[in-house]
Amino acid sequence: MSGKKHKKRLDKKQIKGAVSRALREQPVIDMHTHLYPPSFGTPVAGKGGDIDEGGLMLWGVDELLTYHYLIAELFRTVRPSELTPDAFYGMDKRAQAELIWKNLFIDRSPISEAARGVLTTLQKLGLDTGDRDLEGYRKWFGEQTADGYIDKVMEIANVSSITMTNAVFDDNERERWLADGSIGDDSRFTAVLRLDPLICNYREAAGKLREWGYEAGDVFEGEGIEEVKRFLRDWIGRIKAIYAAVSLPPDFRYEEGGEGTWGEGSRVLREAILPVCREFDIPFAMMIGSQRGVNPPLRDAGDMGFKADVESVARICREFSENRFFVTLLSRENQHELAVAARKFGNLMVFGCWWFLNNPSIIEEMTRMRCELLGTTFIPQHSDARVLDQLIYKWDHSRGILYEVFKDKYLDLAATGWSVTEKEIRRDVEAMLSGNFRGFLKG
Ligand SMILES: [Zn+2]
Repeated sequence: MSGKKHKKRLDKKQIKGAVSRALREQPVIDMHTHLYPPSFGTPVAGKGGDIDEGGLMLWGVDELLTYHYLIAELFRTVRPSELTPDAFYGMDKRAQAELIWKNLFIDRSPISEAARGVLTTLQKLGLDTGDRDLEGYRKWFGEQTADGYIDKVMEIANVSSITMTNAVFDDNERERWLADGSIGDDSRFTAVLRLDPLICNYREAAGKLREWGYEAGDVFEGEGIEEVKRFLRDWIGRIKAIYAAVSLPPDFRYEEGGEGTWGEGSRVLREAILPVCREFDIPFAMMIGSQRGVNPPLRDAGDMGFKADVESVARICREFSENRFFVTLLSRENQHELAVAARKFGNLMVFGCWWFLNNPSIIEEMTRMRCELLGTTFIPQHSDARVLDQLIYKWDHSRGILYEVFKDKYLDLAATGWSVTEKEIRRDVEAMLSGNFRGFLKG
C-alpha cells in the first residue's frame, strides 16, 4: 500500500463527517420549481414593494400555510357540512392560512411532511416555532423586501440557481413576458418552456396559436407543422429556455403510428417539439403520472398520481437518440423500471422525487435504489417549490436523507478496502446536486 493512499484514507467516523460536510456545503442547482423573481410581480405585502394581485412570486407565511399540499390535508379534518372547498376558496388568504394553522398545527400535531416543512422553514429563518405566534411571524415577513428575501432564502437553503417553469399557455404569465421580455433577466433564475397543451390537447392549443398569429390548423398536419415549430422557436428564444417541459397524465402512450388517443400528441412531439429541441440543443423534460381533477372541487389540491408507461419512455429515448430527456414519474411503483431504463439509455436523465414521493421514507428508498442501479449518474432531487420559502425545508430535509444514503454507500466502499477520500466524496456530491444537471444541459 502506498503511503499517499494510506494517508488520505478516511475511517468510518471521518467518512460520515466528510459526507455531511459535502452535502451541507455544496450549493444546489434546483432544476424544477414553480418560483419566480419579483419582476413577475408578487401578491404578498412586503416592505417597500407594490402588491400585484396576479403576481407570480409567492412567499411568506400565509403562502406557506395555504400551499395546496396543506389544503388537501385541511379537508381531511373538516366535515363537508362545516366547510365546502368552494367556501374555503372564497375566503381571503389570511383567513385560509388561519384555518389551516388552527386545524393542522394547533388542534393536532403537524407531523405530515408538508406541515413539518413549514416549521423547519420558520426555524431556519430564525423564528421561534415554540411560541406558535402566527401574528408574530406575519410581522417578521412584512419587514422583508421581496428581492432581498430571495437572497436570504437562497443563502439559507444553499441554492445557487432556481429553475422556473414558464407556462406559455397561461395567459397571466404569457402576457407578462410579452409586455416586458427582460422580466426573465434575473441572474438567480433560469427559464423553462412548459407546453402541456401542445401534446395533451392539440386542438385547443392550435386555437390559441392562431389567436397569437401562428397558422396552426385544428389537425396537426401540412403547413401548420412549420407554424408550431415557429411558435416554439420564438418562445424558446424569448424566454431563453434552458430546456422544454411537459407534464403528462398516467395514460400517456407514445404512439409511433400516430393512431389512438395519444396519436396526435405523439406526432407533435416527434415532428415539432423534439426537432426544435435538437435545433436549440436543449433537453426535453417529461413529468408523467399526474391525474388532474380526481376531486375537482379541491382544485390544485384535488390531483392524484397513478402509474405511467415506462415502455413509452424507453421507446422515445430509443427513437430520438439525438435528443436528451429529463424524466421523473409520480408513482412509486414506476421507480425501479425507470432506473432500469436509464441504464439502457444515456440520453435519459432520471431526476427528483416528485410531489407525493417527496416524503422522507420514499426519498430514501428511491435514492438508495438509484445509487445501486445508476451510481452517481442521476439527479436525486428537485424542490418543486411553489412558495419561495419552501426551498429552505425541501433542501434541508432532502440533504438529511441523502446523507443517510450516501454515507452508507461510502462505508460499503470502505469495507471493500477501497480508499475513500474527502475530495472524491465532494466530487460526487457536486455531480449529484449540480454538475449532472449542468452537464446534461450541455449534452
Ligand atoms: Zn412541478
